[in-house]
Amino acid sequence: MRAEERKSLLERMPHVKGRLVENASLSRLSWFRTGGNAELLFEPADEGDLVKVLRHLPGSVPITVIGVGSNLLVRDGGVEGLVIRLGRGFADICMRGNVVNAGAGAMDVHVAKAAAKNGLAGLEFLVGVPGTIGGAVRMNAGAYGREIKDVLKHAHAVDRYGHIVELQPEDFDYSYRHSALDDSMIVLKASFNASIGDEEKILERMREISSTRAESQPLGTRTGGSTFKNPEGQHAWELIDKAGCRGMRIGDAQVSEKHCNFLINHGGASAADLETLGEKVRSRVKENSGVELEWEIRMIGSPAEERKP
Ligand SMILES: Cc1cc2nc3c(=O)[nH]c(=O)nc-3n(C[C@H](O)[C@H](O)[C@H](O)COP(=O)(O)OP(=O)(O)OC[C@H]3O[C@@H](n4cnc5c(N)ncnc54)[C@H](O)[C@@H]3O)c2cc1C
Repeated sequence: MRAEERKSLLERMPHVKGRLVENASLSRLSWFRTGGNAELLFEPADEGDLVKVLRHLPGSVPITVIGVGSNLLVRDGGVEGLVIRLGRGFADICMRGNVVNAGAGAMDVHVAKAAAKNGLAGLEFLVGVPGTIGGAVRMNAGAYGREIKDVLKHAHAVDRYGHIVELQPEDFDYSYRHSALDDSMIVLKASFNASIGDEEKILERMREISSTRAESQPLGTRTGGSTFKNPEGQHAWELIDKAGCRGMRIGDAQVSEKHCNFLINHGGASAADLETLGEKVRSRVKENSGVELEWEIRMIGSPAEERKP
């Protein structure tokens, strides 16, 4: 083995302005609060920092990008390679005319509020999505009748080798909670089309969305939001309910009593408990209604038994 290959991933990194942490806990960075560690976690200070690392990174090292982990299940064996998390250096929000520009690390709720404050309508739905703009653009996040594909003007992303590209909405080939964006592409920022509106009416709509959410979702719990996508013309929660899965448990992992398309970690659930519970729900729904539910939650990493020494 060559001397360079014997070095740890951290030792092979160039000097950066941001943070590089070896064997970093990802459980604290995911809403489920469970799962293993990242071999190396990188929180770049800015775009230049990120590009520098990507250009330096050996092609054999896998990369995984995460937002605030509101739609993620980190498996118990952790994630090999470099895990990239865009934070403060990517959270700028600014308006130009009817266009709202936001960094990939900006929280959706902050973007919705900033647009409202500037009398720009159309992004109210983002108040109901507790993730970042990067995650929203990747997942085609949506709520209450609107989704990212309805408002995206364009986005900038960087590829595995540090090349920045501008992407048009058609490049994402959006469908329900899905984009065709390659997993190795990292969204850096996005611009959204909005329309002139009345600030008070926009805020009123946002309040309505927030209170409907509070009534129907188990907010304040360790969850990953909707577990399964709604099949065409049907509601996943109804199929789960009819299959008798409401409240079903494996250890500390439970199908929410309040909204049965949400899984909850009551504290001690492993990622395996949550994934096994989700799979049990899928097979019961298949038996009961013939429908194969598709995971909306994204899994990253390896199961514990595959954990590398
Ligand atoms: C209580 C609750 C309610 C929710 N309600 C909704 C809802 O109403 N509508 C909805 O759509 N979702 C909802 N979600 C799910 C989640 O908030 C969204 O999917 C959100 O867009 C995920 O953003 P994130 O930053 O947390 O991404 P993460 O969960 O960290 O990652 C999700 C995916 O996005 C990718 N990703 C993250 N950042 C980037 C980036 N910069 N570039 C490229 N890829 C990236 C990750 O690789 C991963 O595949 C809810 C979640 C919770 C916990």
